[in-house]
Amino acid sequence: MPDSEINSIPVLSGMPLEELAEYISPLPHFRAVQICKWIASGASSFDAMDNLPLPLRKELGERFTLRPDAAVQKHSGDDGTVKLTLQFADGARIEAVLLSDSSGRRTACLSTQAGCPAGCVFCKTGAAFLRNLTSAEITEQFLQLKALADEDAASVSNIVVMGMGEPLLNLTELRRALAVITGTKGLNFSRRRITVSTCGIARGINELADKGPAVRLALSLTTADESLRRRLMPITAQEPLAAVKKALRHFQDSGGGRITLEAVLLGGINTRREDAAGMAQFARGLDAAVNLIPWNPVKGLEFEGKALRQPAAAEIESFTQQLKALGLNVTRRYRRGRGVMGACGQLGSL
Ligand code: SF4
Repeated sequence: MPDSEINSIPVLSGMPLEELAEYISPLPHFRAVQICKWIASGASSFDAMDNLPLPLRKELGERFTLRPDAAVQKHSGDDGTVKLTLQFADGARIEAVLLSDSSGRRTACLSTQAGCPAGCVFCKTGAAFLRNLTSAEITEQFLQLKALADEDAASVSNIVVMGMGEPLLNLTELRRALAVITGTKGLNFSRRRITVSTCGIARGINELADKGPAVRLALSLTTADESLRRRLMPITAQEPLAAVKKALRHFQDSGGGRITLEAVLLGGINTRREDAAGMAQFARGLDAAVNLIPWNPVKGLEFEGKALRQPAAAEIESFTQQLKALGLNVTRRYRRGRGVMGACGQLGSL
């Protein structure tokens, strides 16, 4: 049971089936299955569960909370992106985003922490850290985004754990949430369509490799120049790139698939020839593709006294060509979500 739930009523929506079954025992296992199915269908109260006897619904309502208490605000962008702000009972505010691409495919972007302790200089979220989210709070984001997709008769086809926070610093709760989301008796979402993005927590990558879940992995590399990376992403001081690369190798040796190396492109900072060469060197020995993300502007963010700027189109193109010439497989992230400050690095409510 996570710390935040110890003194409050347990929240069933954050419990994987077996944990839920144990929790509601001596009720029979099939009741846990029924409850999981109701949670997956979006039920927000025990009253809706009309295949459970009325006295049982009443009893469950007295003993447990079905879903976390969250005030939800919706912000819709012109490009089909919808950003939800969820404010939990203790006042923590986080954001979750539903991205929609030109073919109508919906991707849910989930947060794992309120704020982020990693403190990357180019990211709004890193400006403060409040707390880890519970499994129920992570699952709640998916349930809310799924309901939005349902309204459009669409479905969520991919999940990216790339919202607020560093997922591998909250791996226990993330693992429980993903067990709920992928549970075959409930939401039944495919693990292969889930990508967890880390700024490079070696022990977390090793733990994922050893204990699962078997999801896809992305590393927010940004630059392989260790000295520059320490200044852009202070976590590098505790997580040297050599240790991160060793962990990535272990992840792939343990059956993990292709890794995405992400680079947020900061105008005039990490788009040098040596950054391209460093990235190619880092990728050597890994099955990896590179995803370039031109920095999404956030007012007030600076690096060593200078305001950060977006890279120019020619700068992006030149960096892309250099990486390609070095034999890397390169894609560019589209900039969806900017209109609602819901793009990568722009999330920031606490
Ligand atoms: S980029 Fe990711 S790891 Fe870095 S501060 Fe932002 S949320 Fe945290």
